[in-house]
Amino acid sequence: MKVLVKNASLFDGVNETVKPGCFISVEDGVITEIANQENTNASYGRVIDAAGYTVVPGLIDAHTHISFSDTFQAMDSMTAEEVAVRSTVIARQMLERGFTTVRDVGSNCYGLKQSIDNNFVPGPRIYPSYGAISQTCGHADYRQNRTQRSNFSQNLEDSSFMRQGHLVLADGVPECLKRTRDQIFKGASQIKIFGGGGASSLFDPLDTIQYTREELRAIVETVTNYGSYVCSHIHAGPAMKIAVEEGVKSLEHATFMDDDIARLCLDKEVWIVPQYATAELIANRMIPLDSEILYQKTERVGKGLLKQAELVEKYNLKCAFGTDLVGMPEVHAKQNAEFSARKKYFGSFRGIKQATSDAGELLKLSGLLDPYPEGDIGVIREGAFADMLLVSGNPVEDLDILANPDNIKVVIKDGDIFKDTRTL
Ligand SMILES: [Zn+2]
Repeated sequence: MKVLVKNASLFDGVNETVKPGCFISVEDGVITEIANQENTNASYGRVIDAAGYTVVPGLIDAHTHISFSDTFQAMDSMTAEEVAVRSTVIARQMLERGFTTVRDVGSNCYGLKQSIDNNFVPGPRIYPSYGAISQTCGHADYRQNRTQRSNFSQNLEDSSFMRQGHLVLADGVPECLKRTRDQIFKGASQIKIFGGGGASSLFDPLDTIQYTREELRAIVETVTNYGSYVCSHIHAGPAMKIAVEEGVKSLEHATFMDDDIARLCLDKEVWIVPQYATAELIANRMIPLDSEILYQKTERVGKGLLKQAELVEKYNLKCAFGTDLVGMPEVHAKQNAEFSARKKYFGSFRGIKQATSDAGELLKLSGLLDPYPEGDIGVIREGAFADMLLVSGNPVEDLDILANPDNIKVVIKDGDIFKDTRTL
């Protein structure tokens, strides 16, 4: 069907100027023309009048776990069906909050992605990593949370997390190669690994370095040979340095950064995907966690991120929007709070770019493994997917507007309307 979005005040995802009076033509889900007057010869199946709204690209969240609809411990006792059914609710609500594309950095969202792509359920496009790969005793060795170190006879089959393939263990070069290739076989667009300690696990200290250079190199080479890249969960400075030197292209969290690491990231064109609002929300006890230890670890992360944001700004590092929310729908509902944090650290224009054209550039690093090669994402231009939002107010001037999803009146993905609250 041909669709026209008329009278649009357009933010294209790249240029700071919002251009009034645009007419955006869409055919088969892709933008075919942007004109400054209506083509009266063309006939459209649907015309959307955007007068009075700012039209912005569909938003991108580059760090989600879209299948995780409860705390880790609750998730670990769910069946695969329960996980999958609940994930459809999370996915629909994400789309209604304006996120037309997400990168999933660890969760077995295969069935969800298939169902969304085949129009069975509404949800964002997903750039999946599928099983996120951890070393034994690393951040995602989920046995440790279950056993509390009291019962080492428990094996992987005792954790539904591991059994269902949300998290995967690999040690030594041959296993790293095998598990990496397993995820590529499933259709992962990039590989997610855990290169250091984390805040959401009980026993691995934040400052640990996980994976040897040899293991890292094997994973990076395998993914690079398939035309894509590795993203790594990482907080500690020394772990970041090793990861970047060995070719990791996207640092998730990247908390305890210093000038040397920032310069290295700049030099190697490495992306930083931090979650400022989530760390703040956890530090303020606004998100339920399984243990007091986790709150304490996250408070340290929150403080580290304050300095990290200064370095991202100082060196103008490549930085994408990400939220990392794990929990019930009311936890995921805080997704848009990250916009206020980005405004605070980077200003409105740079903040909205991080969730549109910048994040789009990052996701397209998946190259030969790109699940959606037919169009650009995060931008409104000819040849891009017709993912657009009609927003009350101008978020390029004030990004707080996107922090409230109620200001996002219309959500268009692939040229189809998934939310329209203009008359409410
Ligand atoms: Zn995460």
